[in-house]
Amino acid sequence: MLIIMKPNSTPQQIEAVVNTVKAHKLTPHITHGVETTIIAAVGEFHTPSTDPFEVLDGVESVKRISQPFKLGSRQVHPENSVFPIDGFNVGGNDIVVIAGPCAVESKSQILETAHAVREAGANALRGGVFKPRTSPYAFQGLGEEGLEYLAEAREQTGMPIVVEIMSQVQLDLMLKYVDVFQVGARNMQNFNLLRMLGETRKSVLLKRGLSATIEELLMSAEYILAGGNKQVILCERGIRTFETSTRNTTDINAIPVLKNLTHLPVILDPSHATGHADYVAPIARAGIAAGADGIIVEVHPDPAKAASDGKQSLKPEKFAEMVKQVKAIAEVMGRRIAPINKPVTAGW
Ligand code: PEP
Ligand code: MN
Repeated sequence: MLIIMKPNSTPQQIEAVVNTVKAHKLTPHITHGVETTIIAAVGEFHTPSTDPFEVLDGVESVKRISQPFKLGSRQVHPENSVFPIDGFNVGGNDIVVIAGPCAVESKSQILETAHAVREAGANALRGGVFKPRTSPYAFQGLGEEGLEYLAEAREQTGMPIVVEIMSQVQLDLMLKYVDVFQVGARNMQNFNLLRMLGETRKSVLLKRGLSATIEELLMSAEYILAGGNKQVILCERGIRTFETSTRNTTDINAIPVLKNLTHLPVILDPSHATGHADYVAPIARAGIAAGADGIIVEVHPDPAKAASDGKQSLKPEKFAEMVKQVKAIAEVMGRRIAPINKPVTAGW
């Protein structure tokens, strides 16, 4: 249920509404908008009558939330959610570029990649250290050693780091290093993991599952939001279809649909969505044209030797070219790539 306050409502009136929400065993989530304050009353098992709220002073109107996802809904929070990640904002007018290898493979590989993508204009560095591989015999990631290399890359380049978490047991270790937790497609419905990330106050980049609907993605985001962590970034990364000429099929539709349904930032991963380096730049451009708030792209200094996802990884020069194109599309959209304010402190 949404309780919309009158524009001139007082803090006391808001407090009285919050107390009534709690008295009905619902949890209040308050949004102070530019125009008005909205209180979402979310309950696990029941939705009471709107009457006890309609009669309260300062209340303009009371509406039922029609969507199954509540806290992520634009109905609850009409303005875009904008939040800071070290050095830039996500969800506002600026487009963010996250880049790096699929997996951290060695210190030299991650440092070389970090400097190259920073030079090309990337805002954040990605790199997996726990890899969800189809085969248990494939490279599984460097673990803590990889986190140490990423921390060094952050130190040298000033870029925050985005790293995939696969399990609850990795949380304590990763909290020491990571700026943004990535939840991979295969874990989109790992509800225990999502709940646990909802208890943290670090940003979460939540990828769409391989065969998940848009609504299922939003319901997964809800698990994180319900824990009080409001910093959720949604990521379209391609879905499985009957088409076999690309690894996945980019659901470009998902970008405007999500932007319509939710206030959360939406980014696109053209690397996993296509599975082929040749298609990454065109689909990145399409994503920005469709309204994405950013892109996450795999880059490797020597894709032929990559331990994972080499086929879809861009060489640094190709990545730099792609950033220039994305910048031009962003301008057409009245946006820009988030500027880089932090200096590089060490060379490669
Ligand atoms: C990745 O980002 O390297 C990855 C494994 O992505 P996804 O979960 O989208 O497959
Ligand atoms: Mn990958």
